[in-house]
Amino acid sequence: MRATVLHATRDIRLDDVDAPELREDGDAVVRIVASCICGSDLWPYRGLPEIDGPRRIGHEFVGIVEAVGASVQTVAPGDFVIAPFAFSDNTCIMCQRGVHTSCVQGGFWGSDDRSGHFADGGQGEIVRVPLADGTLVATPEQPDEALVPHLLTLSDVFPTGHHAAVSAGVSAGSTVAVVGDGAVGLSAVLAAKRLGAAKVVAMSRHEDRQRIARAFGADEIVAERGKEGAAAVREILDGIGADQVLECVGTADSMKQAMLSTRPGGRVGYVGVPHGVELNVPAMFGRNVGLVGGVAPARAYIEELLPDVLDGTVTPGQVFDQTLPLDKVADGYQAMDERTSIKTMLSL
Ligand SMILES: [Zn+2]
Repeated sequence: MRATVLHATRDIRLDDVDAPELREDGDAVVRIVASCICGSDLWPYRGLPEIDGPRRIGHEFVGIVEAVGASVQTVAPGDFVIAPFAFSDNTCIMCQRGVHTSCVQGGFWGSDDRSGHFADGGQGEIVRVPLADGTLVATPEQPDEALVPHLLTLSDVFPTGHHAAVSAGVSAGSTVAVVGDGAVGLSAVLAAKRLGAAKVVAMSRHEDRQRIARAFGADEIVAERGKEGAAAVREILDGIGADQVLECVGTADSMKQAMLSTRPGGRVGYVGVPHGVELNVPAMFGRNVGLVGGVAPARAYIEELLPDVLDGTVTPGQVFDQTLPLDKVADGYQAMDERTSIKTMLSL
């Protein structure tokens, strides 16, 4: 089968690799229908950190179950399934507490599971899914093709935006500012409005991204960044700043901008993978600003978000502004690296 392999910095190829097979009784084999490229895939693509050899990549996919192991009960061959970006048993002490990314049996796509068998990367044709009962969520019926992009966002980007909002405590009547206009930031706008935020300020300088933020419910757009951006947010929100700020970038500058945009007593929910972020804890202490978040336990949220996706209440797949066939995956990485694509879907 064909699968995406990162060979070296900015050298990504679709290679022929061994097709996966069932290894454990709890496994499933899934044929991918659609996959996509994540902002976090760009870090190794850009050599941050530099990889030491060829590596399978991709962690967001939906597909059709082809085969299941002897003990699998919740999915069957022919089911359309959503795979979160980490696999988990959905039963252990951590999963019960909603932290599926810390599952005691869990792991990540493109690496070995705890029995030492390889769990394929998500940007390929077929994946061996460990812990299939816990990991996969089947849709009630076969979805229309038009629904596939929206379902695909449940793998990562939409639950990640949702996690920022939940972590920060967004609820009915909240005022919210979102730092970052990538696919996660845009999803965070959608998630905040879905949770009942009264006013959402999206921070974006790009017209195409501003348009999606508006479509997702943003009430105001702030194009300035840094101190000026935070001042503009405070001016819009009663002169004090947002109840919750959703930090969806992960750089030192974006975290600073988030902190400055938060009102005293407010919370920052962060889901941007941090690179070089430092905190001014004394300033946080003085202003009673809290920081909560981290890697999103996507699996914990799929059942909650799925009905709204299925009935069209939300259309999170609007973050995909480009769809390419899998054999053009390198073009997709280049487009996202050069920011000419917000998020690229790969169709099979
Ligand atoms: Zn678990």
